[in-house]
Amino acid sequence: MSETGSTRPTIAIDGPAVSGKSSVGRLLARQIGYRFLDTGLMYRAATWNAIQNGVDVHDANAVAAAVKSMNFSVSDDESGDNLIIVNGEDITRHLHSPAVDDSVSAVSAVGRVREILVAEQRKLADGGEIVMVGRDIGTVVIPDAPLKIYLTASARTRAIRRHRDFVAEGTAIELAAILQSLEQRDLADSSRSDSPLKPADDARIIDTDDITLNEVVSHLVELAKDVI
Ligand code: C5P
Repeated sequence: MSETGSTRPTIAIDGPAVSGKSSVGRLLARQIGYRFLDTGLMYRAATWNAIQNGVDVHDANAVAAAVKSMNFSVSDDESGDNLIIVNGEDITRHLHSPAVDDSVSAVSAVGRVREILVAEQRKLADGGEIVMVGRDIGTVVIPDAPLKIYLTASARTRAIRRHRDFVAEGTAIELAAILQSLEQRDLADSSRSDSPLKPADDARIIDTDDITLNEVVSHLVELAKDVI
């Protein structure tokens, strides 16, 4: 049982772009038998939808209107990975394209967009037993989560990791371009007025520069044992 007395605790993982939150969160959830939600996919889906509909991502009113009318849902595949369905179509594979990367911070800075998506995230958190990853999970979405983690790593390490992913899927892109896009996204996400990226006061900060994914997951499984 958690310190808060809840029998169905939640775990919040936040951190900058490509800090490993999703991979770590997914593996942690699998090991402790929790559900998993990558909230970044929701902001990415809102961005993809806006781009598809020709909406100017810097026009906050137009972006908010597009998100409001977006018919979307989150489901899980058989291994617990999130799938995003928009208008009946599974769009998950489109969500990590460079075009979405470059526009997602503008979309996620729109207050109305955050209200709509945070309401959905809280509904999912209400059931408890979920590992939720994003930028504002420990600070805004579930501030009473009994375990809050803030994962980080240097921008260069994160860019190299992302470059490796792009190479593996056959997308040709320069490392320098990834580094620049990632640094721009971090700056936009941490300097916005609504729910900026920052560790919660009671978050445990874990720097993943010199530790492997499996080491991070093992550490979090140990921490999770104190709250689940
Ligand atoms: O985690 P990921 O890099 O996929 O998130 C994509 C973008 O979505 C972030 O750069 C940020 O702008 C936005 N985001 C957010 N709040 C969250 C999760 C993601 O603003 N909880």
